Amino acid sequence: MKPFDYRQATDAGEAIATVARSPRASFLGGGTNLVDLMKLGVATPDLLVDVTRLPQLDAIEPTPDGGLRIGAGVRNSDLSADRHLRRGFPLVARALLSGASGQIRNMATVGGNLLQRTRCGYFQDVTKPCNKRVPGSGCPAPEGDHRNHAILGTSPSCIATHPSDLAVALVAVDAVVHVAEAGGERTVPLIDLYRLPGGTPERETDLAHGALITAIELPPLAFGRHSTYRKVRDRASFAFAVASVAAAVEVREQRVHDVRLALGAVAPKPWRALVAEEELRGGPATPEAFRAAIAAELDAAEPLPGNAFKLPLVSNLVTRTLSSLAGIDR
Ligand code: SF4
Repeated sequence: MKPFDYRQATDAGEAIATVARSPRASFLGGGTNLVDLMKLGVATPDLLVDVTRLPQLDAIEPTPDGGLRIGAGVRNSDLSADRHLRRGFPLVARALLSGASGQIRNMATVGGNLLQRTRCGYFQDVTKPCNKRVPGSGCPAPEGDHRNHAILGTSPSCIATHPSDLAVALVAVDAVVHVAEAGGERTVPLIDLYRLPGGTPERETDLAHGALITAIELPPLAFGRHSTYRKVRDRASFAFAVASVAAAVEVREQRVHDVRLALGAVAPKPWRALVAEEELRGGPATPEAFRAAIAAELDAAEPLPGNAFKLPLVSNLVTRTLSSLAGIDR
């Protein structure tokens, strides 16, 4: 591994200023992704500024309106066990528990989880071209191994998927991210934090260098208790999703009164299924209607030969998940 300097931050403003003025500096959270990338030679920072002991970043607090504010330094395992989260947002707790392993969840932070990098094998192999790692070097995935790659939101430059389970559930519930940066503080909806690859796949978020995620806020969701996260993966634990769905649904008199739906492992960012949601709202709560709605969402998909299986997989996954939540599983 390339040598680097390490500093333990005690003040958020100082940490932000330090990283902002050093182009090759990075924040360090739990390190469960960044340190792996450093060992592979994919990430080569000169300086790591450890933000895990900054005050206020490790709190989970209910908000007066019934939502939840989560410090970006909260460990995934602590958040998954939080009673407010489990009661009001079970889909988020399930997404957390479906990710990685117990040991990694004990280390990984919520903020770091949102910013983890793709697990595309070409991105992680410095002997291969990759537009995301080395802009302009090419993308071997469409002609090579792309079984786990994206079918929505891709570009000729990059077809990688975003690997987070947590981010999919947070996007489904309209989570908002608090960001501190040299110019002050701002909030941004999580769905807008992520960029699609277009011609610049190396830019994955709208965060400037030196910007620090300090908290994630979940607005209240009245029917949040009727929610879940389901993940299809190649083995029962410690595996990234082949496809996943985060869903919350409110059914009244056999009709969908309201719904939230997001998909994972199908796009370069957590994919909010707004087309399907629109189809579902006010319609019958039947497996046939659920299947038609996700078909409408997947109309925009551009699968490749090696990942076209994700179309029926996502269709079945969403139909079964919504049917289960609606109490009509059969
Ligand atoms: Fe790189 Fe994206 Fe192509 Fe993977 S899919 S090799 S991350 S450009």
